[in-house]
Amino acid sequence: MSNECASIHRLANELERHRFPFDESKIPFNGVYFLFQKGEKGHQRDRIVRIGTHTGNNQLRSRLKQHFLNENKDRSIFRKNIGRALLNQRNDLFLKYWEIDLTSRKAKERYSSFIDFNYQQVIESQVSKYIQDNFSFTVFEVQDKQERLEVESKLLSTISHCNECNPSNDWLGYSSPKNKIVESGLWLVNELYKTPFDNAGIEYLSRLIKDQ
Ligand SMILES: [Zn+2]
Repeated sequence: MSNECASIHRLANELERHRFPFDESKIPFNGVYFLFQKGEKGHQRDRIVRIGTHTGNNQLRSRLKQHFLNENKDRSIFRKNIGRALLNQRNDLFLKYWEIDLTSRKAKERYSSFIDFNYQQVIESQVSKYIQDNFSFTVFEVQDKQERLEVESKLLSTISHCNECNPSNDWLGYSSPKNKIVESGLWLVNELYKTPFDNAGIEYLSRLIKDQ
């Protein structure tokens, strides 16, 4: 898988790079994003540390804002995972409260009496700062939802099968309590180790990206 993975890294790195605060108007309404992290290298380029997309129509921009800006861990599994690693790294006991999904009113009522929301907000700010300071991304447009999900899954599978683009020794993900993150070197737990892109798949991907 390493040739295919190297091709994906080349294509992903050649796209226009976005950093916080990013210009929303340069991001398509529908597509797939590659995330890069400071200090992480792979295939002689910036290593891809996460790939993501969205299910709802026209939601790519808001998805990226949920990661970089919106201080709500329960709306972004990426924020949740960065917080988990930051807390776990310093043996912070708040980790067990960070795990609780407070999206439903029922959960909020049940847990609000023993969660320190001031401290939770401190963590949210630390997560924002970490993400804004350390991550950059590139995007490409994919209009069709099924195609987006398939491309995302195959990209992730190809990268997770590759043994040549490993994390640096001090990668934050090594502090994650999630084994799949530690083992894959990616800020992800789903769609790993499934069907990868073959040669023809990489050609299709290359056309998809370069035709934009
Ligand atoms: Zn690789």
